[in-house]
Amino acid sequence: MYGSIVCRYHEIATKGLNRAMFEERLLANIRLLASCDGIEDLVVQRMRGRIFIRKKKNASFTEEELEKIGKTLSRVYGIESFSPVLETEPEPEKVISLAADCASELIGKLLEKRESISFRSRARRSDKSFPLHSKDLEIEIAGRIWEKFGDRARIDLTSPDVSVGVEVRDKIALVYYETFKGPGGLPSGCNGNVLALLSGGIDSPVACSMAMKRGCNVDFLTFHSYPYTPMESLEKVKRIASHLNLFQKKGRLFACNLSEIQKLIRDNCNPRFRTVLYRRMMFRIAEMVCRRYKLGAIVTGEAVGQVASQTLVNMSVINDVTSMLVLRPVCGMDKLETIARAEKLGTYELSIEDLPDSCTVFAPDSPAVAAKYFLVEAEEKKIPDMGSALEEAFRGIERFDDL
Ligand code: ATP
Ligand code: MG
Repeated sequence: MYGSIVCRYHEIATKGLNRAMFEERLLANIRLLASCDGIEDLVVQRMRGRIFIRKKKNASFTEEELEKIGKTLSRVYGIESFSPVLETEPEPEKVISLAADCASELIGKLLEKRESISFRSRARRSDKSFPLHSKDLEIEIAGRIWEKFGDRARIDLTSPDVSVGVEVRDKIALVYYETFKGPGGLPSGCNGNVLALLSGGIDSPVACSMAMKRGCNVDFLTFHSYPYTPMESLEKVKRIASHLNLFQKKGRLFACNLSEIQKLIRDNCNPRFRTVLYRRMMFRIAEMVCRRYKLGAIVTGEAVGQVASQTLVNMSVINDVTSMLVLRPVCGMDKLETIARAEKLGTYELSIEDLPDSCTVFAPDSPAVAAKYFLVEAEEKKIPDMGSALEEAFRGIERFDDL
């Protein structure tokens, strides 16, 4: 019967003066995501480099509760790993017997079904006044297990069937048998808020998750071209944003209709530059949203060389319209890596639904792969009153706060 869950974090531990702020954010995110998953009765506390999760009134967790909380914790950026733990006082005999007795119960059950099993004990003590060294503690625990099972339980330090973990701290000692991986990184939100350009594609949701992992809370901006793209395309992006919100304090989705601007570009500019011109408009509107909502950077799913619009030359010409910082977290990944991440993240299945994207509206047969600055700028000058068109698109933005 486990009374608490211990979460370990890694990168935050290397922070200096800001450490408390990072830790507070991690606590807040654990509480928030647990509550979004319908888990309410938790006490989440920080204690010397670890986070402890307990139930109110010190009740034990049931198997189902542990499983449910485990699913939540595996989505909280900043958590390196977590374990359900048993607690006892930091006295040698109490620690050794708790660890050995519980391990024996587990091993006994396994031996009902097989001839032999392997195990190891791993101990660490942060309280140096504890009378036993970590190694001695490990040997004592292993010795007790041996006494019970003899040769049927052998030690394997690399990949044992049962791993007994012990951590002796100044006021309590912890015993655990399972360690689950968290997503790592930094707690989302601790580094501020950003705006991600979210299409219905595979790459941009992955970019969003990578920004979250670096401590950004992500709002989303999507462009559609209704009535030239169907409303279902926006619904698809809403589903993706809603899924991404499982990993952070809910970000808002801004939906901007680009079709009027696209028509102006279609009617006035050389078709070869359409894609680049659309993108420049997207970046301009993204900057307007960032300024209005005080968001610190734009995030995109661009990867160098992936499609015609993403050559270095085109990306520079697109980037040129904004003075905002633009983060492109998937820039150095190949498509297979991005797909693997999207699958793990759970967005792949949502992204592959085949619906038209804004960028493909009026798409030319042969887009420019290296659009020269001066040519693109000359094309843009042909658009009558571009400023008002941008203002209008910005004013028409729909906002979804609760996805
Ligand atoms: P993705 O799979 O993310 O769509 P992609 O490889 O298909 O990326 P593009 O479609 O060229 O590449 O888009 C590059 C980036 O531009 C996207 O990752 C996204 O950040 C942004 N973007 C493209 N289309 C839209 C859109 N309709 N709304 C918002 N952002 C968009
Ligand atoms: Mg795309």
